Amino acid sequence: MRSLPTGLMRQLYSWPVALADSYDGFLIDLDGVVWLGHQPIEGAAEALRGLATAGKPFAFVTNSPRISPERQAEILRDHGIETDASRVVTSGSTLIALARERIGEGANVFTTGTPDFLAQVKAAGFELLPAERWPEATGLMISGHDEFSYEELKAASMAARAGAFFAATGRDPTMPMPDGLWPGTGAILAAIETASGQRAIVSGKPERPIFEAGLGVLGLPPGSKVAMIGDRLDTDVGGAQRAGLDGILVAGNESVPPDTGIIPEHRIDALVDLVA
Ligand SMILES: [Mg+2]
Repeated sequence: MRSLPTGLMRQLYSWPVALADSYDGFLIDLDGVVWLGHQPIEGAAEALRGLATAGKPFAFVTNSPRISPERQAEILRDHGIETDASRVVTSGSTLIALARERIGEGANVFTTGTPDFLAQVKAAGFELLPAERWPEATGLMISGHDEFSYEELKAASMAARAGAFFAATGRDPTMPMPDGLWPGTGAILAAIETASGQRAIVSGKPERPIFEAGLGVLGLPPGSKVAMIGDRLDTDVGGAQRAGLDGILVAGNESVPPDTGIIPEHRIDALVDLVA
């Protein structure tokens, strides 16, 4: 018996093959998959340990630009998930990488976002301009925050109209809060685009840059089979499929919009089903 190959053993005894075995690596969404509002989801840590043991590389891919990859990794470690910031890709870190590539480190930028996001941009080596110095901006990095002002709208739209590199973390019009849907980065971006007549490059899901950044972390050879695991059909599954990846939908919570026309390659109730 000991000499039989695993595959044959499985056939002989009908051992179920874990879904994880069908892929070389994974991109994993955080909110709704690993945690819900930073409360750990049962079995997620166990599933990730299973992937690590099976030698399947994975990276976390999240549309939340407000918290740095370092802080996200700290929260993951608090949940018993061994990882570091190099394995966490956010729409914010992807936007910063895009800007570095296009306008160079140290460029003058006008940036909107939470204090944490502004600190990330500054730490990456960019020179953050105050609104009145918008004519000196070679780049615009737009992310939502709750003190967005007419002054910011004016500076950003005039810089975009003048030809500055124009990029944003996302187009989500709203974000869910306890009392309902608050205006998101997409609403702010729409105002800047309307006023400037220019269209921004977007770093976050469902756009391609964040998936490419995640693949870069995995470092697998070309042709490897990679799946994105997420709880949203439009951003996670649809975006992944457009980027050439498979999409695995975690259908265990309520954030799935109906009738998107997007069909995931697989559907699981929770991350733990991946290794079950
Ligand atoms: Mg999610």
